[in-house]
Amino acid sequence: MAGLDMERQQLHDLISSVCHAMIACTGELTTLDQAIGDGDHGLNMKRGCEAVLADIQTISDQPLPDALQAIGTKLVMTIGGASGPLYGTLFLSLAKSLPQVPDRDSLVAAFKSAIDAVAARGKSQVGQKTMLDVLYPACAAFSAGKSLKEVAIQCDCAAIATAPMLAIRGRASFLGERSIGHIDPGARSSALLISTITHVLGAEN
Ligand code: ADP
Ligand code: MG
Repeated sequence: MAGLDMERQQLHDLISSVCHAMIACTGELTTLDQAIGDGDHGLNMKRGCEAVLADIQTISDQPLPDALQAIGTKLVMTIGGASGPLYGTLFLSLAKSLPQVPDRDSLVAAFKSAIDAVAARGKSQVGQKTMLDVLYPACAAFSAGKSLKEVAIQCDCAAIATAPMLAIRGRASFLGERSIGHIDPGARSSALLISTITHVLGAEN
């Protein structure tokens, strides 16, 4: 994965693409969260992404671990809700365990431990209708040597596959059985996050 040894411009483009993709889906994330939550997930993610974009030059001028640390800190401070600390934890954990120039193995290990950190923070596990139901399958596909395109497809399928699940964690769990039949908003935002990264890296490699 030569693309992981990132030039500043590549890192800038990656951050910019992810933030703009997320912001473009504000309405979709809002609609999903209106069905089984309080309807703020779209605006929460938009606020976080706008805060990252406001500082993108400073962030992308730094080595990868420092850039991830800066993104994680911004997300914790700006997204709010349940997802802010969880997405913050994901990036702050990646910042701690990713080497400056990661190869595929170190990326898999760092991604896995970052998702474990999210699960520990949320006291949650796979199968409970949350962002973990996209993050773990994405990591498993990547770790199994699947192509970036296959990882992206896996993410989209995994987000859709949260629809029949019963929510056990987060605000959607208050609905009990009525949470069934709707895609989890955090699963969808995680799919957007990962699939945009794979599209940008895939296009560059
Ligand atoms: P809030 O629920 O506080 O309004 P958001 O709407 O921004 O926050 O985020 C909701 C998303 O956060 C859910 O769709 C789910 O994916 C994720 N989430 C909530 N609680 C947890 C948890 N304990 N573990 C993992 N993910 C969670
Ligand atoms: Mg919400």
